[in-house]
Amino acid sequence: MPDPFLTDEHQLIRNSVKEFAERYIVPIARKMDLEDYYPRDLIRELGKQGFLTPSAPPEYGGPGIDLRGSVVVVEELSRYSPTLGFITEIVNDNIVYALLKYGSNKQKEEILPKIASGEWVASYALTEPCCGTDAAAIETRAERRGGEWVINGRKIWITQGAYADIYLLFARTGPKEARHRAITAFLVRRGDCVEVSKLEMMGMRGAGEAEVKFNDCVVGDDDVLGKINEGFKIAMVTLDLARIGISGVAVGLSQGVLDEALEWAKTRTAFGKPLIDWEWIQFQLADMKAKLEIGRTVTYKAAWLYDNKDPSFILYASIAKLYTAQMAVEIARDGVQILGGFGYSKESFSERAYRDAKVLEIAEGTNEAQRIVIHRILARGLPEVEL
Ligand SMILES: Cc1cc2nc3c(=O)[nH]c(=O)nc-3n(C[C@H](O)[C@H](O)[C@H](O)COP(=O)(O)OP(=O)(O)OC[C@H]3O[C@@H](n4cnc5c(N)ncnc54)[C@H](O)[C@@H]3O)c2cc1C
Repeated sequence: MPDPFLTDEHQLIRNSVKEFAERYIVPIARKMDLEDYYPRDLIRELGKQGFLTPSAPPEYGGPGIDLRGSVVVVEELSRYSPTLGFITEIVNDNIVYALLKYGSNKQKEEILPKIASGEWVASYALTEPCCGTDAAAIETRAERRGGEWVINGRKIWITQGAYADIYLLFARTGPKEARHRAITAFLVRRGDCVEVSKLEMMGMRGAGEAEVKFNDCVVGDDDVLGKINEGFKIAMVTLDLARIGISGVAVGLSQGVLDEALEWAKTRTAFGKPLIDWEWIQFQLADMKAKLEIGRTVTYKAAWLYDNKDPSFILYASIAKLYTAQMAVEIARDGVQILGGFGYSKESFSERAYRDAKVLEIAEGTNEAQRIVIHRILARGLPEVEL
């Protein structure tokens, strides 16, 4: 069915990601979850196909498609592996956009092609043990010593953090009381000063979640992204985009659950007829579909607004994130219910999706953080946005 927010090109992208996913992701998605297996080769393959950084322009090794295109990529990947959709949206929306918007030519030329091809694994390192939602309170410090920057601190829940070759890291470059006015973004390459400890998570397994310690990591002025003390703005701008991307994960994951539930309801019988002939199951499936289409539409609308340089994309990014995260948790729960015991077993996609879905209410800004943004815009109007 055509979608008013998408073009024929987006549909072609969807078809090619689907083909890729069926060939390369389906055989490995379960292993990723069961063994917390990080699929390094598959990440390279995603890069080769242009799916890892859909928004990187061709001169930097990507296909250079718009935000809607990247949402479609993330959505289709998440239908089979929410973990891979999650990784892709972080790399594309949090990291590639930050480099494109704030990077020097040297940084873009050196780093973007390596991330786009999958040669380098990149992580976004904002959250710390002290603070996630209150990101302006971060404690990791970058101190000026002899013309260089020396970084010390700890980051936590860092996706791909265990395997990253480069971190987009946010550190304090002034007093704690200055909060967001004294935070700078740095590009820190993996070296002996970086210590990683893998973390066991409930879902999104295989994403290489880690705590990452930076012990006297020395970087130069060339590794500062954007301007000194203006890193918080970079973090917030990329989070706005990532909220749209992660909504794509929620939509794809929910579609995967609905597909599985529908197929199951058609083939499973109870009391002499297929489940789908029972009205309660029909209503359940109808509710899942209705929620999914609302979530998909608001996600595409947010991306369309961004692609059309409309500042209200910020409001819709938070609405999409809030709605689709809750939607994914509900749809995954209902999917498990329709599948019965099979839904509770590791054999089903819905069991994995139910665990994966929960993080959508936490990462890239919690549900509560989205409500804060939405309320702030309601009360005070849209903030100034650079597009
Ligand atoms: C699987 C996973 C992957 C992640 N990947 C990354 C990554 O790659 N990079 C990265 O930097 N971070 C990452 N994160 C971290 C994530 O962004 C944070 O967990 C999130 O922002 C919440 O921060 P927190 O965990 O410190 O919770 P807190 O900020 O401590 O919040 C705890 C609870 O309090 C609520 N709360 C906080 N403040 C308020 C308020 N003012 N009003 C009402 N309620 C409030 C929150 O909504 C939440 O429910 C990841 C997290 C997970 C679980």
